[in-house]
Amino acid sequence: MITVQRNLPLIERYREYLPVSDATPVISMGEGSTPLVPLTKLSACLDLDIHVKLEGLNPTGSFKDRGMTLAISKAVEDGATAVICASTGNTSAAAAAYAARAGLTCAVIIPGGQIALGKLAQALIYGAKVLAIDGNFDDALRLVREMSDTHPIALVNSLNPYRLEGQKTGAFEVIDALGDAPDVLCIPVGNAGNISAYWMGFQQFHGLGKAQRLPRLMGFQAAGSAPLVTGAVVKNPDTVATAIRIGDPVRGDQAMDAMRDSGGQVDSVTDDEILSAYRMLAATEGVFCEPSSAASVAGLIKAQAAGRLKAGERVVCVLTGNGLKDPDTAIAQSGQVIDIPASFAAAEQALYG
Ligand SMILES: *Cc1c(COP(=O)(O)O)cnc(C)c1O
Repeated sequence: MITVQRNLPLIERYREYLPVSDATPVISMGEGSTPLVPLTKLSACLDLDIHVKLEGLNPTGSFKDRGMTLAISKAVEDGATAVICASTGNTSAAAAAYAARAGLTCAVIIPGGQIALGKLAQALIYGAKVLAIDGNFDDALRLVREMSDTHPIALVNSLNPYRLEGQKTGAFEVIDALGDAPDVLCIPVGNAGNISAYWMGFQQFHGLGKAQRLPRLMGFQAAGSAPLVTGAVVKNPDTVATAIRIGDPVRGDQAMDAMRDSGGQVDSVTDDEILSAYRMLAATEGVFCEPSSAASVAGLIKAQAAGRLKAGERVVCVLTGNGLKDPDTAIAQSGQVIDIPASFAAAEQALYG
């Protein structure tokens, strides 16, 4: 019999590289250890060796669980009884879930009417107090910073250093799976925490001799929400990719340093490019991710067309969240349901004409 140890909490799997001790209670749901899947068709098409990291298979359906297991574990260790975050959706889902598991109360502030349906359902069913504001993510973040400054409530946005410490394990897993870092990492950029965390992880394992090389980091923002590309805060960010609809990224400077130091780049992709990659991934590779996640693949396609990669290079695209988070966009981007009577003849007619 083969024993496969699945779902070892990432805090256990990478304990020696994380800021935890025996005094840290591990609040876990088996996050991390997500699949790294080759994209055979797109690899052949672009003459590259492309893999996608399916972060949508984390317990609440996005990479945010990596940071949240650590942020909540440390909050409990530090005696917190309540946590708060601003969120475009996935942070609130993860915070609400891990807080529920730890017995903490959780409050989230979201931009009203701009959250994918699945994410809202999650925050509510996990029992968070959900406040929707008539403002955007950047306004929500301002509010929660002020709230955590004036009340005993722990902030679990990616300003919280433990979030990045947990998220850097994504880079560890990529190195462990491939035996080295890839040539290029493509990743969507919103608040710019995740790309910063991946760079921390790649550098740490490289420094320890676990990777021979460092990847070029290619970060992609949505064109309507691309402050790092334009060099200016975007007052009213707008994109179908709601998870990266952020006009003033908190980790922007750190992310720009990482992209520069790695020899990579930041660029933007249009909503059309994002949605085209989103449909292609599902229809030709069987991979259903969020629109925001597809920005990494849309960006790769654009970068390859611009001659920024060499033939045969190994690329990892981080697919940050599960497609089921946003059923409205999936249905809007897909074919029609065909209504027929419940008869064989009608089914045959519909399928074979
Ligand atoms: C949070 C999130 C991002 C952006 O990550 P940042 O750390 O904010 O740059 C991208 N995709 C999805 C699905 C997310 O939930």
